[in-house]
Amino acid sequence: MDKKIQKILNRNIFKVIAQAADELGQPAFVIGGFVRDIILNRPSTDIDIMTVGNGIMLAEKVGEKLGLKQKVTVFKNFGTAMLRYRNLDIEFVGARRESYQRNSRKPIVEDGTLEDDQKRRDFTINAMAIQLNGQNYGDFIDPFNGIEDLRLGIIRTPLDPDITFSDDPLRMMRAIRFATQLGFSINDETLSAIARNRNRMSIVSPERTMEELNKIVLADKPSKGIILMEETGLLPLVFPELQKMKGVDSIKGIAHKDNFYHTLKVLDQLAHKSDNLWLRWSAILHDIAKPATKRFVEGIGWTFYGHNYVGAKMVPGIFKRMKLPLNEKMKFVQKMVELHMRPIALVEEEVTDSAVRRLLFDAGDDIDDLMTLCEADITSKNQEKVRRHLENFQIVRQKLKEIDEKDAIRNFQPPVSGEEIMETFGIPPGREIGIIKNAIKDAILDGLISNNHEEAYRLMLDKAAEIGLYPVNRQAT
Ligand code: ATP
Ligand code: MG
Repeated sequence: MDKKIQKILNRNIFKVIAQAADELGQPAFVIGGFVRDIILNRPSTDIDIMTVGNGIMLAEKVGEKLGLKQKVTVFKNFGTAMLRYRNLDIEFVGARRESYQRNSRKPIVEDGTLEDDQKRRDFTINAMAIQLNGQNYGDFIDPFNGIEDLRLGIIRTPLDPDITFSDDPLRMMRAIRFATQLGFSINDETLSAIARNRNRMSIVSPERTMEELNKIVLADKPSKGIILMEETGLLPLVFPELQKMKGVDSIKGIAHKDNFYHTLKVLDQLAHKSDNLWLRWSAILHDIAKPATKRFVEGIGWTFYGHNYVGAKMVPGIFKRMKLPLNEKMKFVQKMVELHMRPIALVEEEVTDSAVRRLLFDAGDDIDDLMTLCEADITSKNQEKVRRHLENFQIVRQKLKEIDEKDAIRNFQPPVSGEEIMETFGIPPGREIGIIKNAIKDAILDGLISNNHEEAYRLMLDKAAEIGLYPVNRQAT
């Protein structure tokens, strides 16, 4: 451990900060996540510098010494300042003492000592400090033995967890997020305090909650965090739709699978294949409408008819409440949810060219993501079945590739345009155009004609004749 810290402290930037701090006569420390991450060998470019005294003055002096005075950004209201040096984001803040009111997670802040500042930190592993002044350069100050918790892989609050979490309930989500990201466990008292204080989540904004949830979703094994949220009772408050998926119903001895654990398995399997946050959200939401569409049908068993369509319709409401983006990212998730059964349906029946073309047409450029999601969606315990499905998916992928190269369906452009149809038959915009264009598209997807202008033009003439339209004589007009 000593060696790693030593190495980091040899960097010029820390020497400059130390010099500036000594000139101002202010104790200064590297603190928090950066210290934690050095020891964990997780390279980080966010550095927090805490000083007993004025943080803004220290930042300005450091900026001066580095010759980048203009680039110091000052947040006067918060008493903090930031500067960017090479690839590093360095934040300066004065040591503070915080006190909380019942109805807000924003504290009343006063100047404080080093000890006050370390006490206000969320977890022992986030409260370690390294001093940067003269004689004391490199001193490791760790009043809550965070180094031991780091070694053992434990998340624990420095003070009484009931107070820590009630003061700022976002810390409950942070505890679960760090446990998930770092593969740590949460100490028993800390964990039970999360369960006791869960209703305090009501004072946290959805934006902040989602920032943490998204970090959980992006972890190597996201299920860990979601299970911790479920066990502590945070899940029904943050994400009731997901909570509803938990549990099995049984009628006449027939039970369906637990869709909550199935979803988590899909999410974990997907996490091995893709870092795309929105594809991971698609995994979380792919079966979200199963509780709403669940029915027991005599002679068939449990059914979830239309859960992909109903699920896609639920996405905007969930995204809106969770303050997730309502743009093309949401549309992507909707599309994934809606189409998630198509590839598997394809392999269960016969993989015909026209079915592959239709899938390619509907999925467009998102076809690879859809295939990745569907492969992750195979969670059977029967290894033989899993093997067979994955093999079939390989066949579908191969077919997709062949047909994509041959027929240019992926970003389908109608070979005959609406304008050309209107001109040819001398008609104004109207439903006939749609009928003809659809007939051409269907014929191409079904493989009746190739995707080119000549064949499409001929089909247009035939289809138009069926509905009583004939080309106008251009010479005459
Ligand atoms: P990451 O950057 O991965 O989110 P981090 O620990 O650096 O992890 P930041 O949000 O950057 O987290 O915060 C930096 C430090 O500030 C933390 O290590 C912790 O000491 C302190 N901190 C941040 N948020 C809180 C909070 N809500 N309550 C108490 N201390 C906090
Ligand atoms: Mg950080």
